[in-house]
Amino acid sequence: MFNLDFTGKIVLVTGASRGIGKAIAQAFASLGATVCGSATSQKGADDITAYLDGKGYGFVMNGLELESVTKLFDDVVAKCGSAPDILVNNAGITKDGLFMRMKDQDWDDVLTCNLTSVARLCKAAIAPMMKKRAGRIINITSITGEIGNAGQCNYAAAKAGMIGFSKSLAKEAAARGITVNCVAPGFIETDMTAVLNEDQLKAWVNNIPLKRAGRVEDIAGAVVFLASDMASYITGATIDVNGGLHCA
Ligand code: NAP
Repeated sequence: MFNLDFTGKIVLVTGASRGIGKAIAQAFASLGATVCGSATSQKGADDITAYLDGKGYGFVMNGLELESVTKLFDDVVAKCGSAPDILVNNAGITKDGLFMRMKDQDWDDVLTCNLTSVARLCKAAIAPMMKKRAGRIINITSITGEIGNAGQCNYAAAKAGMIGFSKSLAKEAAARGITVNCVAPGFIETDMTAVLNEDQLKAWVNNIPLKRAGRVEDIAGAVVFLASDMASYITGATIDVNGGLHCA
């Protein structure tokens, strides 16, 4: 039961070129899985193939172009000869701004990339999982989807939507042995948060009970746990990985 060997499993991780997605992909590769990771460019996809070093492949996918999302799934099946056993929807974007001034395009893009594309990939992945009567779906949401954040109405709506979507899909898929869960990072040091200045960073960290920013490995650990046999009785859950920020 306490087994973290993913040998023979195919794992698909979106947004695996950097940040949290890269750490997740590397974690699964180190535990024996065949890992498929996506980036938005061919160069990013080639870099994924290079760092996976024979343990998987990189692919191109842009969550703003929904046909490329279903193409990613087909490309993975063609390359690996089988559908993914584990799907990690990690790719995400921000287009922040106060709601009163938010452009419709910025609303649409964030909802498309962070929610609709996730649903498309789940739809493609769930049919073969149903047939196999096994599968794991892990969606990377955000503390913003749980508690909100000024300037991020679009992002919060998408990430909160992801939680409700995951709970509903968990109920639909449970009878077939498939689990669907979310991981909600708090403040993690990646390119996404590198846009904050020193003062903003200090203010964030000051609010975190564990008094440090999160590391990408903190999120990868939770994802690997949810994908493992140890988590076979957990579905429809959201694991908060935020240093206690959700209780602050
Ligand atoms: P990141 O460093 O900005 O990396 C984003 C990843 O998503 C990259 O692999 C990127 O690929 C890919 N991506 C960007 N635009 C895309 C698009 N239009 N279609 C498909 N893929 C796209 O982000 P991160 O901080 O690791 O965040 C990963 C996930 O965690 C996101 O869903 C984010 O919302 C969530 N999260 C992060 C934090 C945090 O503090 N960092 C907190 C809460 C939640 P390219 O390299 O090709 O651009």
